Amino acid sequence: MALVSTGALVLQTFPYSETSKVLRLYTGDFGLRSVIAKGALRPRSRFGGLLEPFTEGTASFYLRPGRDLHTLGGWDLVRSRQALGRSLSAFAGASLLAELVLRAGTEDPHPEVYAALAASWDDIAAAATPAEAERVVLTGAWTLVALLGFEPQTDACVVCGRPVPSGEPVRFDAGAGGVACIRCRPVGRLLDPATRADVARMARGHVPTAALVRPGAHRALLRAFLEAQLAHDRPFRSLELFLEHAPAADETA
Ligand SMILES: [Zn+2]
Repeated sequence: MALVSTGALVLQTFPYSETSKVLRLYTGDFGLRSVIAKGALRPRSRFGGLLEPFTEGTASFYLRPGRDLHTLGGWDLVRSRQALGRSLSAFAGASLLAELVLRAGTEDPHPEVYAALAASWDDIAAAATPAEAERVVLTGAWTLVALLGFEPQTDACVVCGRPVPSGEPVRFDAGAGGVACIRCRPVGRLLDPATRADVARMARGHVPTAALVRPGAHRALLRAFLEAQLAHDRPFRSLELFLEHAPAADETA
């Protein structure tokens, strides 16, 4: 058993007993881990109110090989990100990204996942408008999906393999994980060229600077993809909340 110290993002917390709580952490050095913060629910706990979702800190814990739950020894706060709790849409978006990492993350260290999640949380909190926050969440979601090994195929047909020119409308086959020629998939969800190009850029971490042409299409696409690729009969709890609080003034296309 070794005491280790690593950067950590709090994805989720739940009470473990009268006085303790379990944290699901995404750590810089050890990937996705669960730790127990003993006494954290006591009024005078040394952890105080520090251990809430979206908080970042340096976590020290006793790493027991082969165990699922490690004991938190110390927590040095880096950033609390309390602003994410002040609006329901920001909270929902930040929660969706946390849930994605909970679903698809592993114990293997993946510094890019850590950096993408932390940066997305910061950018949601800093967004000037709800529409900008939504673009950050959508970008964070596609970026994390790609980094975690589920990148949607956007440049070639998932059926025949033909490279699809950028201006060509295609189907989106969520179950197969990417686009398909209309000839190969005569029925199904249509994906317009602009939205396809946006998704390809978002998956590489680029937040669109201008308003999305079809925000409704983006939401529907992300929902279809997450349900097909990552839900595994357990719906994403935060997805509906995120979609319910999408900015208004959407078009129906
Ligand atoms: Zn095809």
